[in-house]
Amino acid sequence: MYIAVMTATNTEVVRRFLKYVKIHTTSKDGVDKFPSTDQQFDLAKLLVQEIQDMGFDQVQLTENCVVIATIPSNLSTELAEKIPVVCLNAHMDTSNGAPGENVNPEIITFTGEPIILSKNPELTISMEEIPDLKRFLNKKLIVTDGTTLLGADDKAGIAEIMTTLSHLATHPEIKHGELKIVFTPDEEVGKGADSVDIKEIGAEFAYTIDGGKMGGLEIENFNAARGRITVTGYNVHPGSAFGKMKNSLRLLADLIELFPADQAPETTKEYEAYYHPMFAKGTIDESSISFILRNFDEKDLDNQITHLRDGVQRLQQKYPDFPIKAEFKKSYRNMKIILDQYPKVIEIAEEAIKRADLEIFKEPIRGGTDGARFSFDGMPTPNIFTGGYNFHSKKEFIPIVAMEKAVEVIINIVQIIVEKYQ
Ligand SMILES: [Zn+2]
Repeated sequence: MYIAVMTATNTEVVRRFLKYVKIHTTSKDGVDKFPSTDQQFDLAKLLVQEIQDMGFDQVQLTENCVVIATIPSNLSTELAEKIPVVCLNAHMDTSNGAPGENVNPEIITFTGEPIILSKNPELTISMEEIPDLKRFLNKKLIVTDGTTLLGADDKAGIAEIMTTLSHLATHPEIKHGELKIVFTPDEEVGKGADSVDIKEIGAEFAYTIDGGKMGGLEIENFNAARGRITVTGYNVHPGSAFGKMKNSLRLLADLIELFPADQAPETTKEYEAYYHPMFAKGTIDESSISFILRNFDEKDLDNQITHLRDGVQRLQQKYPDFPIKAEFKKSYRNMKIILDQYPKVIEIAEEAIKRADLEIFKEPIRGGTDGARFSFDGMPTPNIFTGGYNFHSKKEFIPIVAMEKAVEVIINIVQIIVEKYQ
């Protein structure tokens, strides 16, 4: 029997969220150690303790800072055997795109007027900028004081999963199969999926709770590649440089020209692909540009690579004295390729969102997700909304009702799985 969620979870998800955002868990790019920052262990340890306090004792913290908990099924043994093990995942780190320490969340009621952030009045959040805000008129939002990010990405996901567990612990009448809870570090620096062994988790499929607006269900993400183009020059003392010096900096403008300005992150949206030069450095001896390429179509990503290779070849003909080298590396792939083979996994999520009386928004992720890696590693993993907006910025915020709805959706998921497989 399906049991609808009552409002008792509502204050709990907020209380948990406000506690978790206070813990500084910013991850760091380009660090060799794992996790990239030690503070992520502070949140991990707290979560382990809280899960144990709920009465679930199969919980561990790995040396990689991954929290893995097993929530045993409360079905009869015979029925439990038919129900697939399902994993719920969220990440503990926050982006280094804005400060993540001393987060001071504030709860406000959205009146329709632009929201002014208390300690940084220059920053405002308005309906003009976020038309979706009209869904939350006269509702409570959690915002920052304007000096840090909020951390809804992805502590909202953590709070929503934790509230679900606590609800299941106190409501044995809600029947579910075995659940695996996995909280990962370093997702924002692209290493979350590296920290876990999918086989060890042993779930048939999973849901990440790491999406945006209320009702969102994400099953597609970019295919991604990155690379670097390097020009080699030759340096001698300027006093005796005539006819000898080859200044590689002179080619930088031509290099930038290889990246079409009308196919950039700032000039594309929805399903459009882009070229994104991110970093240039140069001396007389050597200059280089690092870039990323993003495309929802895998073959078309190869065309982008070919476009750049052709451009580099043309430049090489124009500047035969400067060796030019182009390197490319593919990173993540569009999880839709995998998820299309598991329609049931998507149907369960859709049904769960519908039962929470929400409209479903299926939008492509213009980025990557750990779920993409999980999907290609054998655990199909769509992404479900947390309810938050303006991730990675000081203007990040989350409506309380969206968090409550996310909890409802997760509780619906575990019940719908039992219905679909029994
Ligand atoms: Zn996230």
